[in-house]
Amino acid sequence: MRRELIDITMEDVLDRVRLTVLKQRGNELNCLCPYCDEPHRREGHLYINVVKDTFICHKCGRQGNALQLYALLTGQDTKEAYKELAQEISSGLRRLHHIQYKLQYTSQQKNIATPEERNKVYREFLKLLELSEEHKQDLLRRGLSEIAIRVKGYKTLFVGKEKRLEICRTLQEKGLSLEGIPGFFKHKSTWEWDFIPYRGYAIPVRNLNGQIVGLQVRMDEPAFSKYRWFSSANSGDVGTPAEANLHVTSRPDDGVVYVTEGVLKADIASYLLGKTFIGLPGVGSCHKQLVEVLKQIQPKLIVLAFDMDYREKKEVAFNLEKIKKMLAENGFKFKQITWDREFKGIDDYLLHLKQTQKRSA
Ligand SMILES: [Zn+2]
Repeated sequence: MRRELIDITMEDVLDRVRLTVLKQRGNELNCLCPYCDEPHRREGHLYINVVKDTFICHKCGRQGNALQLYALLTGQDTKEAYKELAQEISSGLRRLHHIQYKLQYTSQQKNIATPEERNKVYREFLKLLELSEEHKQDLLRRGLSEIAIRVKGYKTLFVGKEKRLEICRTLQEKGLSLEGIPGFFKHKSTWEWDFIPYRGYAIPVRNLNGQIVGLQVRMDEPAFSKYRWFSSANSGDVGTPAEANLHVTSRPDDGVVYVTEGVLKADIASYLLGKTFIGLPGVGSCHKQLVEVLKQIQPKLIVLAFDMDYREKKEVAFNLEKIKKMLAENGFKFKQITWDREFKGIDDYLLHLKQTQKRSA
């Protein structure tokens, strides 16, 4: 398995499976083993450690990591299980089942650095990276200008190990701590800092204050999903898992905020239309954050610009209704816009408009 693939946590798995949790001590859950325990027992043989991301059954001997547990419970091999999980996680979906347990830590206690700290590190980090010609061409093709590409700060993440270690040393020499920064990790054997060389380019995710709070990765070969978070697991070597964040392109100067699904899409559409866009990392994620950010902006109007296939996609249609309900409950004025169905995303449509204008001019 390639190094970059390992960031499935027990939390990810517990969100998506059915298990009977009987007791909890610290971060260890005592569960009924679905293989060897009779139902209605008071104590099971299966122990799951939510922080160490491990499980073991003291009766049948099944044991392993989070991914292996998921594979076992869903009857897949780990490769298939990984595919499925990676896709769901990177799209920001959280399928909640009825697993009752309380984490003895919050995601904060997983030591993710503050937005200020992440912003400082990611800004310096991006300066030390380059954008490959191939990635630049991809961004130009999507409708961004060379200047916009530079300003937004997209960079190629696939870098050789020596260069990676050098970049990490440079960051530390600048007085920056890589502790708690998703995507970076410390090798257990040498204690050297490194980052995960995702095969793709980084898309900075900014909060309302313009701070870069996370990086999304546009993958070169989207076998599982096109986008992933720049993230490092804290099992094995010592890293930090990413948290989902929504992306705000800028503060609006006309009181109008567009909302769409996708960080890069938000950047492109914002550039082409000259409006403020908020990009949700997934249609089902960051809804609370969305309301919080909108409360701070107090927009006159919110324009929902979701992909034109929303009607066919149950998941999207469902979440769109949820968002509308939430906006209404919070007293926001909003409308949904649609366009020629030939163009799926608002970015595709705006690019089409720009190109036809150019041709007729
Ligand atoms: Zn068992």
